[in-house]
Amino acid sequence: MKELTFLLQESTINPTVVAFPGLLTGRKFFACLLPLLYEVGKDPCFQSGSSLQSQGNPVPETENIYLVKKLEELYDSSQVRNFSVQMDELGKIIPSYAEYYNQRFCETIDIIAYYRPYHFNLFKYGIYIDLQQFFLFTVWIMNSLNRSLEEAKKFALDIILTHERFHYIVELYASNFELETGSAGVYEEYKLLYSKFWSTENCWEETLANYFVKMCHPFWDRAKMEFLAYFFERQLNGYRQANLITAQNIGLYFDWLERQILPERPSLNFSQILSLISVLPMAQMSLDNLPVYLLDDTGNPEVFKMLMMLLFPFARL
Ligand SMILES: [Zn+2]
Repeated sequence: MKELTFLLQESTINPTVVAFPGLLTGRKFFACLLPLLYEVGKDPCFQSGSSLQSQGNPVPETENIYLVKKLEELYDSSQVRNFSVQMDELGKIIPSYAEYYNQRFCETIDIIAYYRPYHFNLFKYGIYIDLQQFFLFTVWIMNSLNRSLEEAKKFALDIILTHERFHYIVELYASNFELETGSAGVYEEYKLLYSKFWSTENCWEETLANYFVKMCHPFWDRAKMEFLAYFFERQLNGYRQANLITAQNIGLYFDWLERQILPERPSLNFSQILSLISVLPMAQMSLDNLPVYLLDDTGNPEVFKMLMMLLFPFARL
């Protein structure tokens, strides 16, 4: 409870408004009661399929968690300078990115960051970025695309935040239905199904979360788009199928996902998730309503500090 109070004081975000879109449709009373249906701190084991994967990405027990105050802070690279000394130092104490990203296999975006749903985490919902994994991904981009640290960091942030935001939008979609019909449990049931499908070609949420990265950035240059295709191609089943989506078949993929979430729903010739994005301000491009945390996945507070100093020097620990 102490931690919860701390987070609420620290956060400039109003989680109730963010989490329950019923507030926008005048169902205030019901929306206020709904959080009580969810258990605070419930193990978010469905968020990544980790309930079935012993090698999944469990939420680490670490005291080094930094709540990002503003997105601008995360993207600010004006002080990211003179990194070669720190890079040399870090190279001696952390693994090489090639262990995670190589010609044979690439880790998924969910290894770098993951979304913890409010259904299972209430006020601790949001996007959690593992700092060391983020650093390795950024260095891989630097080397692969021959970009500066600043450029690579911005591109890496755009990729992971967009993918994770899609998971949030999926949860909003299920919540919208729960609020409209009064039937709680839609999202939880879907996440059980998701756990079964995770790492198979029927895991449409991951396929579309990857595709969403491309969809939200139509003006990225060719080198970036080719990098993404290379990256996706080497990922797990379910993720790599993003490369199969085209403007012609995209509707099918949304239909498959939406019917996984709402099995009773008839096939539609438009995507309700995409309509939701255009209707609800909280589901749009802005991440202002979605808390972002930086996490220590090194287990070493000194290394964590070095990485923070290198990538996010404005953040005061
Ligand atoms: Zn994902």
